[in-house]
Parts: sequence; structure tokens; C-alpha cells
Amino acid sequence: MTPIHTAEETAGAGVLGELIDGHVVLPGEDGWDLARQAWNLAADQRPEAVVFAESAADVAAVVDYARVRGLRVTTQATGHFAGSLDGFDDTILVKTSRMRGLEIDPDARTARAEAGVLWEEVVVAAGEHGLAGLAGSSPDVGVVGYTLGGGLGWLARRHGLAANSVLAVELVTADGRIVRADRDTEPDLFWAVRGGGGSFGIVTAIEFALYPVAEVYAGILFFPFERAAEVLNAWSEWVEDTPEEVTSAGRLMQFPPIPDIPEPVRGRSFVVVEAAYIGSEEDGAELLRPLRELGPEMDTFAMIPASELRFLHMDPPQPVPNAGDGMALAELTPEAVDALVAVAGPGSRSPLLSVELRQLGGTVAVARPEQGAVGHLEAAFALFGVGMALDQEMAAAVKVHAQTVKDALAPWAAARGYFNFSDHPMDGRSLYPPATYLRLQEVKAAYDPAELFRASHPIRPAAA
Ligand SMILES: Cc1cc2nc3c(=O)[nH]c(=O)nc-3n(C[C@H](O)[C@H](O)[C@H](O)COP(=O)(O)OP(=O)(O)OC[C@H]3O[C@@H](n4cnc5c(N)ncnc54)[C@H](O)[C@@H]3O)c2cc1C
Repeated sequence: MTPIHTAEETAGAGVLGELIDGHVVLPGEDGWDLARQAWNLAADQRPEAVVFAESAADVAAVVDYARVRGLRVTTQATGHFAGSLDGFDDTILVKTSRMRGLEIDPDARTARAEAGVLWEEVVVAAGEHGLAGLAGSSPDVGVVGYTLGGGLGWLARRHGLAANSVLAVELVTADGRIVRADRDTEPDLFWAVRGGGGSFGIVTAIEFALYPVAEVYAGILFFPFERAAEVLNAWSEWVEDTPEEVTSAGRLMQFPPIPDIPEPVRGRSFVVVEAAYIGSEEDGAELLRPLRELGPEMDTFAMIPASELRFLHMDPPQPVPNAGDGMALAELTPEAVDALVAVAGPGSRSPLLSVELRQLGGTVAVARPEQGAVGHLEAAFALFGVGMALDQEMAAAVKVHAQTVKDALAPWAAARGYFNFSDHPMDGRSLYPPATYLRLQEVKAAYDPAELFRASHPIRPAAA
């Protein structure tokens, strides 16, 4: 093994730097701390080198370079999911943030995004044609990382997980090949990446379907925190009858008293219901009526361009130090609501700024033969709790409390968690049904038997 930051530091960087158009930063060099930083500022990432790739050819060169030196390679577009990586030993970090090519084909209703493209870039460009992509709640999450983990967004109950809308991926495999995987070419690889994460190669571009959703009826109902149990119970009854055109979330929120937070909610706590409805204002208002009759303190529902759904969840618009974790629930009974409110609601002293329950079901629950490794979720709700982690002590407190929430809701847990809502390294067996995990292991063994790629929630190769 030849670590590139010791004896051959200069030569190693020089060699790698000469092989690519992109930029290499080594430990100790100018810009190192910025280069190794993730969107989640609480992540202390210390790889052997950071490479800012410009192209698929750059990525292939790094993979070849690493393979012959016994190094490993991991990839990030943004570092939103840094908490789910299990370390950087002997690992080169390839950042795809410079690979920002984006093409929208309005007639075919498809997009092709290079690996560094963020969802907000897609939804704004697609929105100009009255089209929508299956983005999640956060505008600056990477399209590739999100989609490879499933991808649960505001249109999910009507149009499914983002992974189901993938038409093709271009990726670099462990042997340095640049391949295109779709239904007909490299079908096993195509199956595995759609839900199996980044264990199988470095995706350099992804093609996916867009949908003719120009506007939605969407917004938030804010209720006093003290009404947490009442409102969550009303919401969980309400979701039982909602059509698949509605995707919603019930949420406990404690806004910190910082200037970045808008004045009406700054320093206050609420129980909120967020929802997006694909349909008219009139029908949406009628659907929402039972929740409105509860008398929210604030009500932001209105017809909005689908591209503005990126603001609905109030996710931070810039990198933040955070910690959190999630789980999936099979059901949300009044007892489950009580258990949640006891650990995260009024008087709980919870350090979690947000604990959300995303409504699943509808198309998210439908299994289709053509789907990839994760095409549907066998759960009723996906839960995620998150808090600020300005230092290690805060991070530890948030992690402990996120686990407390999970423990409290364990009696209602679904059989498996949701990849993208599990922000620490997970054993694949807790994310996939046994047959799916076995098939993922077989694809890993076929494409990356030596585990060159290090990824969030890694898939281990099947034994030879
Ligand atoms: C504020 C916030 C809101 C979120 N909202 C949602 C949501 O609404 N729905 C949802 O489903 N998820 C959501 N997530 C989870 C999010 O989808 C994951 O964190 C996702 O992995 C982020 O992708 P990224 O590329 O931005 O992150 P990164 O940390 O850069 O990448 C995450 C992982 O993806 C893999 N990866 C990234 N790029 C590549 C590539 N080019 N080739 C191969 N593998 C790659 C790697 O394994 C990497 O470790 C949210 C996360 C945050 C922090």
C-alpha cells in the first residue's frame, strides 16, 4: 500500500494531478480544510487526498490510480450524508461538485444530470417547461446520492421514489471502465444502483424521467407545540384517506433563536403539518379542511410552482453542523404518537430541532417487477430526527436523543429502515429484504470484489 501523503507525497500528488484535468488537494496543503469539508460541518473527514473531478475520464483515472496502489475511493457531491460513511482510511475522496452539466429534454420529459448537479438546479430548469423532477425536501442535496438511496420527495405518493424514475446511469466501475447501465446494458448494475447506493461504482451522470407537474397546492399549518399529540393524531387519521396526489409530513419543530430563522417562528416550537397536493386549489382546500378546522396559528397553503417545493420543508439553505437519525414505522397509533410526544414534544427537553414523520403509502408502497434494489417502501411512515451539532458534546447529545426517539417508537417499527433517513453506517441487512441484500452482494462481488469503493451503507461482496 502506498499512502500518497507520506514519502511520495509530492510525487504522488504530482502524478495524480497530471493524470486529470481536475484538482488534487493533499493533507497539509493550502485549502485542505475546505477541500475535506462536507455539507454536514460536523463531519471531520480525513481522506488521503481530495480530488475535484471535472469529468468521467478524471474519475476513471483516479479509480485506476487508487486500484494499483491498494487505495480505496469514495465519492461525495455535497457531503449531506457524511454521517453514514464508516471512515476514510487509505481512501481518496472524489468530489463531483465541479461536474454540473444538466440537460433537460422537454419533449421526452427527461433530464441528464452530471454527478455534481443539485436538485434545485434540476427543479428550476425543469420548471421552466412545466415539468418536475422527484426532488426531496432539500434544495442543495445532490441528485445522484439522493436517487441512489431511493429518493423520497413531495411527489412520491403519486410518482414513486426517485430511484424508479432513473432511465440510465453512466458510471466508472472498479476496473476503471466507463460504462452506461440501463435496462438492456449492464442490467444487474442498473438494478443495484437504484437503491443500493454508491457501492458499485462512481456515477458520473444520471438520466431520469420528469413529470408534467407545473403547480401544486402546498404549504404548512403551524400549531402551538402544546397541541402536539392532538395534531399528530388528527394528521395520522387524515392521512388514511388522502389520495396519492397528496404527500404530507407531521413534524415537531423547535426553531433555534438565531437570526437566520424568520422572525415569526424564531425561538419558538410548533407541531406542523406540511403537505403538497397535485391538483387544484379548490380540491386541495377541500382535502385540507379537517386539518384547517383544528385552527392553526399560521397557514401558508397556496398554489405554488412545483419548483418552489424546495422551500416547503424549511431545510437549511447552507451547510450546517448537524447530527440525526431515522427509522421507518409500520403504523402510527395514538400510543405511538404519545410515545413520540413524550420524548420529543413539549417538556421533553429534546435537543432535536425537528422530528418529522413523512407519509408513505400510495405509489411508494407499490412493488413493480422492473424496479431496482429499492423501488418501494414497506412502511407507513419514515421518521427522521435532527439537531444542531456545534461541537462533539452537542453531537453526542443529539445522537443519544435520536436513539431515544427510535427506542421509544421501536414497538411500531417497520421491518426495515429507509436508506436515506439512516445517517450513520448501517448493516445492509437492516435496510433490505434478505433476497435483495443477497443479490446486491452478488452484484458487488461481480463488479467490485476487492471493495475499492467505500460508500454510505456499504454492501459487502458475496463470498466467492
Ligand atoms: C437537509 C437534508 C434533507 C434531506 N431530505 C431528504 C428527502 O427529502 N428525501 C430523501 O430521500 N432523502 C433526504 N435526505 C437524505 C439525502 O438524500 C442523502 O443524504 C443523500 O445521500 C444526499 O446526497 P448528496 O450527494 O447530497 O450527499 P453526499 O454526502 O455527497 O453523498 C451521499 C452518498 O451518496 C453516494 N454518492 C454520492 N455521489 C455519488 C456518485 N457520483 N457515485 C456513486 N455514489 C455517490 C456516496 O455513497 C455518498 O456517501 C436529506 C438530507 C439532508 C441533510
